[in-house]
Amino acid sequence: MRLKKSQITDSEIQYETDRETMMRRVGYKLHRGLASMAEVPAKRPRVVILGTGWGGNKLARGLDKEKFDVRLISPANHFLFTPFLPSTAVGTLEFRCIQEPVRTIKGLSEYYQAKARAVDTEKKVVTCEEIFKGEQFEVPYDYLVVGVGCKTNTFNTPGVSEREGTEVFFLKHLYHARMIRNRILECFERASSPTLSDNERKRLLSFVVVGGGPTSCEFTSELSDFLKHDVSRWFPDLLHQVTLTVVEAGPSILGSFDKGIESNNRPPCPPFSHTHSPQGPPFSKSLYVSLSFFKSL
Ligand SMILES: Cc1cc2nc3c(=O)[nH]c(=O)nc-3n(C[C@H](O)[C@H](O)[C@H](O)COP(=O)(O)OP(=O)(O)OC[C@H]3O[C@@H](n4cnc5c(N)ncnc54)[C@H](O)[C@@H]3O)c2cc1C
Repeated sequence: MRLKKSQITDSEIQYETDRETMMRRVGYKLHRGLASMAEVPAKRPRVVILGTGWGGNKLARGLDKEKFDVRLISPANHFLFTPFLPSTAVGTLEFRCIQEPVRTIKGLSEYYQAKARAVDTEKKVVTCEEIFKGEQFEVPYDYLVVGVGCKTNTFNTPGVSEREGTEVFFLKHLYHARMIRNRILECFERASSPTLSDNERKRLLSFVVVGGGPTSCEFTSELSDFLKHDVSRWFPDLLHQVTLTVVEAGPSILGSFDKGIESNNRPPCPPFSHTHSPQGPPFSKSLYVSLSFFKSL
């Protein structure tokens, strides 16, 4: 039978309230008792991984999250598939195709978009700097994995660091590829202006790739394809004025590869010539490779 509100006395209300409180307490104690009887999972060791590149990303995905409390710290909130970076720089691939957000890693306890700035191995703490306002915070660890990669080596070439992002572009991060892509298009648009002098147009259409390693060769091939397939359609009058040059200090390009692979890929006697670089050291002995070489790769 349901009582009307007016029929319920104050003492009855008090009784109900006490009863509810008591039941809650009993339930809580029961819950605690059961919990203490059950097998309480041991605290998982905290693994802090610095870097979301090839090393950090692979480890973070592979570690058993039931056993480890995995935390990631990196300024890059995505993993970058670097072998395809040269393709994005000229638009063969879209940027989104070669990156994978770190937050898709299942069971990850935490990700901080920050740079590690210091490690205290006594206290087992990493000092981090978040990338937005530069504010610092500490992250304790049981195990620390450092996978922060390396910086592009300029070999102390004068002017390179100072001109980075304006005339000089590295190719390591996604934003580098984006900058290169924008710059190449800008050069062609500017070169098509009727107000430009011949010398200035020639300068804008001269592309120099420094280093004859795999990344440079891949990028040069991609750029060559871009010129052949896209620029030839959009800027047919400019194509014959484009120069593409590779500068390599060693005796040949792709020097890091096995000699067999190198000679397989190399067409017989491509039209390249040794020359002294106008830039002086460290390119005192340079190899200039013509565009036709890369067309054949
Ligand atoms: C264009 C290009 C093409 C390549 N192609 C190939 C290929 O075909 N085959 C091949 O084997 N290798 C290739 N490589 C090389 C390969 O990418 C590297 O060997 C590999 O990335 C190294 O892995 P890593 O985990 O040591 O560092 P990285 O992959 O460079 O990752 C470093 C990570 O650390 C983060 N980080 C940097 N500073 C900090 C900090 N202070 N705190 C926290 N995190 C930080 C970065 O944001 C990044 O996420 C290529 C490289 C490039 C640039």
